Formats: sequence, C-alpha cells, structure tokens
Amino acid sequence: MARPVSALTIAGSDSGGGAGIQADLRTFAAHGVHGLSAITALTAQNTRGVTAVHVPPVEFLRAQIDACFDDFDIGAVKLGMLASAPVIHAVADALEAHRPRWLVLDPVMVATSGARLLEPEALDALRTRLLPMADLLTPNIPEAELLLGASIADGADADAALAALRALGPGAVLLKGGHLAEGATVTDRYADDEATRRFRQPRMAVDGHGTGCTLASAIAANLCLGRPLAEAVRLAIGYVHAALRSGTRPGRSEVLVLGHF
Ligand code: PLP
Repeated sequence: MARPVSALTIAGSDSGGGAGIQADLRTFAAHGVHGLSAITALTAQNTRGVTAVHVPPVEFLRAQIDACFDDFDIGAVKLGMLASAPVIHAVADALEAHRPRWLVLDPVMVATSGARLLEPEALDALRTRLLPMADLLTPNIPEAELLLGASIADGADADAALAALRALGPGAVLLKGGHLAEGATVTDRYADDEATRRFRQPRMAVDGHGTGCTLASAIAANLCLGRPLAEAVRLAIGYVHAALRSGTRPGRSEVLVLGHF
C-alpha cells in the first residue's frame, strides 16, 4: 500500500494551544492529512500573551527535520515561528538537503499580543535564505512592511507591495489584508507567475489567535491533497473563516481560539 502523503510544520509551540504547532497539527488533521512537526521554539503562552521563549539547540531541530524526511513521504512543508538567525540557517540547510515538493513560508515576526517571535537581526537571513526557496510567502501587512522596509497604508500600497515581495524571490505571494482598513471586507492579494487574484471575505469583529498559522497550514494540507496552489489558497481562506466562526474563548481574555471541526 502506498504511504499517504504527510505535511510537516517547522514552527514554534504555543502552550496555550491556539497558534503555532498546535494549530498546525489540528489543521492538518481536519484536512485528513497526517501531520509531522519539528519544533523551533517553545513558548510559554496563553490567550493573554507570551511569558517566556525557549529555543532548543539547532542540532536538535535538524535532528527532528531529518527524522521526518527519513521516514515519511512529505507533500508540503510549512514554516512558522523561526525565532533567530541560527534557526533560519539550520532550517534552510535542512531544506536544501531534503528539497520538499512544496514550501509555504509564513514569516512570523510579532504575535498579535505584541510578543516578538523573530529577532529583528534575523530579518536578513529570512530574506536571503528562505524567501527565494519558498513556493508561497504569506505575510500580513506588518510583516510585509518589515520585509520591504516600506509602509503600506492603503490598497494601492498593498498592490505595489505584492509585486515588490515577489521580486524578493518566492514563487508566489499571498499578502493578507486584515490589518488594512478597506471597509467591511478583508482583501487578501495573491500573485504567482501566471495570475494575480484577490480574495475578499466579510470582516469579522473578533480578535482571532493563530489565524496566520492556520491559514498557512491549511494551504500546505491542500497542497498535500494535490490541489493547485491558487486553489489551495482559496480553500484555505475559506477554512480559516469557518474556523473563526466555530471558535471559542477557552482563556480568561477575549481572544478567540479557532475551532477545527
Ligand atoms: N505563538 C506561536 C508559537 C506562533 O507560531 C504564532 C504564529 O504566528 C503566534 C504565537 C502568534 O499568533 P497570533 O499572532 O495569531 O496571536
């Protein structure tokens, strides 16, 4: 019997179960895809914020990645929190050795709560080593601003940023528009070699935790299921919105944790 295709997340752990590895694995499972994980960093975190971060030695991260590739048929890799430049170099080295079929890069930098999840001096390593390797880059507006060193204030700026991000080397870009005030809808802008598309959803008046992680993982899961990239993106945006609608507030804050049902 052929092995089913697995998805690998290389990302941080969220002890509160809302974002990071925990969201990624639930998303893979909800798509019927076996999930693998290589943990870059452990965060002590709940719905109110991050209180501590521990980054294990990069040799241990590499061992996790190698163990996954040595045994499983990996259809797609999703990258989330990478914490520091040494972690980025270790991940890039491992991916150059293993050459995954699809690489989805969520350039996690700062949590919604304000906690830093990537050291500022690691930005260059992200730009030079991982962006050119990614099949899809999925920044939100603040992440795109940091990657480009330019401010994005409106839709016209976002259109220009989409092109500028593509010029940094990824095969395709999904620029998430949630941080822009564009009326009652949120516009996510997508571009690959063939097409530019806009995905519009009604804006939801909730403070969702782990939406970026969930979106990138849902894209990776859909790629594992054989869907073309733009279609994987469209389906994943729909998945996140359904997960927001079925979200709950398990912590003491107003922060919503997505439902994966
Ligand atoms: N914690 C970890 C480990 C993450 O990977 C992420 C992902 O972006 C976050 C927290 C941030 O989640 P959010 O900004 O959605 O609260």
